[in-house]
Amino acid sequence: MAGSRYAYVRNFELPDPLLPETFMVLRLDGHSFHRFSDEHQFTKPNDTRALALMDHAAKDLMEQYPDIVLAFGESDEFSFLLRKSASLYNRRASKIISTLTSLFTSSYVFRWASYFPDTPLKYPPAFDGRLVLYPSAREIRDYFSWRQTDSSSLQPITAEIAHCGASPHQQLVQHNVLGLGATRRGKHNPGARHTQGAYVVRPIGKQTRLALVQGTVSKEKHEILFARFQVNYNHLDARCRKGSTLVRQQIEDGEKLTSMSGPDTESAPRLRGRTKPRAQIVVLHCDLIKDEFWDARPEILSG
Ligand SMILES: [Mg+2]
Repeated sequence: MAGSRYAYVRNFELPDPLLPETFMVLRLDGHSFHRFSDEHQFTKPNDTRALALMDHAAKDLMEQYPDIVLAFGESDEFSFLLRKSASLYNRRASKIISTLTSLFTSSYVFRWASYFPDTPLKYPPAFDGRLVLYPSAREIRDYFSWRQTDSSSLQPITAEIAHCGASPHQQLVQHNVLGLGATRRGKHNPGARHTQGAYVVRPIGKQTRLALVQGTVSKEKHEILFARFQVNYNHLDARCRKGSTLVRQQIEDGEKLTSMSGPDTESAPRLRGRTKPRAQIVVLHCDLIKDEFWDARPEILSG
């Protein structure tokens, strides 16, 4: 009821506008997907069905929101770049984050059965969303380089280290990749709980795990990938090495403009035989770090 004594509470709802003329990057990330992928028996280290499902949900989002000019995904995360001039929802942060995250999640569930026909969903998955503003093209290029550097095939390794109990750690030590947290079996190891060959491996703390994740360079991750999954990084397909990049690509769809015009349209004869360019969302597995991708698509960063 207007003017009711309760209406004042609305004054507590504060606006949360985003700075104008800045790039928005929305990153969605699977919530507890380590457990989700175990429960739904994803193949490790990469499940191409799960990756394709993520791509499809991202495509649904781009179709619904023309302001998204680029998307990049790997593992259980996807980043979306919105053009600088986007006025979507009057640039209200919570509205953009909540609506886009919600649509992505519902699309993921909606299309689940198409990609996992024999695996019913055991429980509803969730994604968290965060939105970051960047002032210039340089930060955008660096952002997507950063995400691609931790490419799909290596993400499970990082996740394993981050979650690691004894087993992955044993692998790391066994293959002499990290050499931390392991000591020879002996009476001076009262805290030791797990044994592997001649080594005694102690569970490592969270801080140490984080340090390992951040300090493990690509070459070492490749070695872990082979040690743990017998997968040679160089033999993986492009999707696994480069992740998925979604862009809008102009195509000639063969549709005659004249067919869109009424019979009494004067311009119809002049347009006869020409085709109407149409934007189609395509999925690429390409390099985002070098200049080539960006030089070929200047419109992405033009605002
Ligand atoms: Mg993740």
